[in-house]
Amino acid sequence: MAETAVLTETASVAGAPLTLDAIVIGAGVAGLYQLHLLRQQGLDVKAFDAASDVGGTWYWNRYPGSRFDSEAFCYQYLFSEELYKGWSWSEKFPGQPEIERWLHYVADKLDLRRDIQFSTRIESAHYNEATGRWKVTTDSGQVIDTRYVVSCCGMLSAPMASLFPGQETFKGQLFHTARWPKQPVDLAGKRVAVIGNGATGIQVIQTIAEQVGHLTVFVRTPQYMIPMKNPTFTEEDQNAYKAKFDLFAQRLPHTFTGFEHDFEHAWAPLTPEQRREVLEKTWEDGSLKFWIASFGELFFDPEVGEQISEFVREKMRARLKDERLCKLLIPSDYFFGTHRVPLERGFLEAFLRPNVEVVSVRDNPIERVTPDGLMLRDGTTYDCDVLIFATGFDAGTGALTRIDIRGRDGRSLKEDWSQDIRTTMGLQVHGYPNLFTTGAPLAPSAALCNMTTCLQQQAEWISDCIRHMRAHDLRVCEPTAAAEEQWIEHHEALANATLVTKTDSWYMGCNVPGKPRRLLSYVGGVGAYRQKCDEAAASGYAGFAMH
Ligand code: NAP
Repeated sequence: MAETAVLTETASVAGAPLTLDAIVIGAGVAGLYQLHLLRQQGLDVKAFDAASDVGGTWYWNRYPGSRFDSEAFCYQYLFSEELYKGWSWSEKFPGQPEIERWLHYVADKLDLRRDIQFSTRIESAHYNEATGRWKVTTDSGQVIDTRYVVSCCGMLSAPMASLFPGQETFKGQLFHTARWPKQPVDLAGKRVAVIGNGATGIQVIQTIAEQVGHLTVFVRTPQYMIPMKNPTFTEEDQNAYKAKFDLFAQRLPHTFTGFEHDFEHAWAPLTPEQRREVLEKTWEDGSLKFWIASFGELFFDPEVGEQISEFVREKMRARLKDERLCKLLIPSDYFFGTHRVPLERGFLEAFLRPNVEVVSVRDNPIERVTPDGLMLRDGTTYDCDVLIFATGFDAGTGALTRIDIRGRDGRSLKEDWSQDIRTTMGLQVHGYPNLFTTGAPLAPSAALCNMTTCLQQQAEWISDCIRHMRAHDLRVCEPTAAAEEQWIEHHEALANATLVTKTDSWYMGCNVPGKPRRLLSYVGGVGAYRQKCDEAAASGYAGFAMH
């Protein structure tokens, strides 16, 4: 905190900008590592975060039931064996408080807090072509003059929170899950409404169903889901996964999704019985393995997609039993795995409780928030004391377009991306020199990717690129228009070969009105993407103009 005060004072008292080599926006999984890497190579660098502490996603998403869907031991950083082995997880898919504690541990171990300014939102970043530097301003009026801006703002960090007219008139408590308060929220006995049944809504609903008086869940699109198995870890288990550190460090960066598992089976050569056996076995793992390590064909072949979807529907029907619930909660018009598959624990059973009600808003959408609750288009009202928006994010682009970013000739990233979402490998954008991005569109990110694996690689690439520039006395780096076009064509060719682009979801930007339709994440595979990034670096950053 002392550092924060000093920094704020330096800028405001002296009236002169704070001069840095680099700023990192965000102090989550990517930002912490990016700060560490840039500081290690001797840059004068600070990270800024709107939160009051480190954690990023795991700071903000403290809603009831928030927990990993990734195996904890695969979600860790793999650049330091000591850092990896110094932390022990209590279970396979731990909850948010434990994950947040782990990121505190990382920040402490690497002594990062002295270079992080918390409770500070970056409001604008304007590029000055004459100097090749950025003028950055914060919400407190602080001005920073920096050569590099590295965005580590997160793929899923701009909440879709203002959705309906009348929200300000609601007399009860209204929360977006990604802005859940730190102080406990007492839901006992209350009438609670939840909008959304994505990975977040599922975790909230299954957690609060037995606490609340009455729960009304508003479902627009039913979801496929996989039941989670979450064993607790003994010291022996912890030692066993820690002993696999070298294996993880070698393997994770090269698999298709950055997880431990890879696609191990091909559909065509197997008999129906053998396919069923594979599906049952991967299902039994109780993890995302069923999605990302059963049959890769589910992403390409509608016939395989339908058969695997039917397998999952059958599993869901067996638990729900009730015909009406099956109709409301089991998907029928898109294929399993074509958008993010959540893990759940007792989600479906929550709807068998007498205090839980499901309302379909597919054909009769939510029209407005009233002082007492929600009103649907046909005028039906639902009263509640607490309204929970598990309504997702403006993914990939939102964190950056909510900052006023101006590149060469004053061009606005928000305006550019409102026409077409373009990046070069998700690492830079043509027209925005010395702006580097992690977790950005057109790189492998939250979709089909273990975030820490991907973010580590992107942070390392950016750090290496800056090291190269400094070693060669180069001050400005910007991808060429041709290189960017080439990347987009490559991305589109891969994306359009999959079923993912045929399904409406946040992966395609469909949850944000007016957002250009483009698959936000690169689907060529984490290992293949890394190879392409490494090749660009090895060629002296071909496609990236430096001077
Ligand atoms: P999401 O997947 O975008 O889900 C948002 C939900 O809100 C959807 O059910 C959506 O319905 C609904 N919705 C939005 N606007 C609505 C409206 N006007 N009326 C009715 N329903 C509306 O968001 P999320 O659940 O927060 O998850 C986002 C991503 O975060 C996940 O896919 C995952 O990558 C990540 N996540 C990870 C974890 C984890 O690892 N443990 C946990 C949570 C989230 P439609 O489907 O019809 O749009």
